[in-house]
Amino acid sequence: MNRHKSVLIWITGLSASGKSTIAHELESQLFQREIRSYVLDGDNIRHGLNKNLGFTPEDRHENLRRIGELSRLFVDAGMVTITAFISPYRSDRQMVRELVGSEQFIEVYLKCSVDVCETRDPKGLYQKAKRGEIQNFTGVSSPYEVPENPELVLETDILSIDESVAKILACLDARGIV
Ligand code: ADP
Repeated sequence: MNRHKSVLIWITGLSASGKSTIAHELESQLFQREIRSYVLDGDNIRHGLNKNLGFTPEDRHENLRRIGELSRLFVDAGMVTITAFISPYRSDRQMVRELVGSEQFIEVYLKCSVDVCETRDPKGLYQKAKRGEIQNFTGVSSPYEVPENPELVLETDILSIDESVAKILACLDARGIV
């Protein structure tokens, strides 16, 4: 009925690397192509389903486990599902890959230096983290484990937003999903 397949596009990277921006621009371009898609990000997950969770490693794990389960249902329902979460630990990303199934999981790593992220920093979070006002902040006081074999690497300190989105669309085309 949809005339397209479903998949989970898992966007990972540092805070301010462009995850939400790229996820929503991708959603907009998929909408124009009449492809059903939905973005899960901090705004609709952290304030609702997962509002009882913080940013310790245990809570980050549980946060992603629930997001993984929810994504699995969205993919099952036929949506091109796009997530925008830092997801700093390899083991957590691997858990979601196994939950959803490797053939329906596209890991997109936004490669962007901490320096560039700090200059963008739309919510001023790096400054707050450096002043010690935010604990366990990825890239400052908490580690980010770079993906070893992501399906796609986008250098968002070099590529424009449109160029990044075009690369994800090309990947979906090449895999026969859309
Ligand atoms: P994240 O979701 O990874 O925390 P956001 O998308 O919220 O990041 O913020 C990234 C910021 O960087 C936005 O304000 C976006 O407009 C800006 N930006 C500037 N250039 C780019 C680019 N080439 N790719 C992605 N984002 C960019």
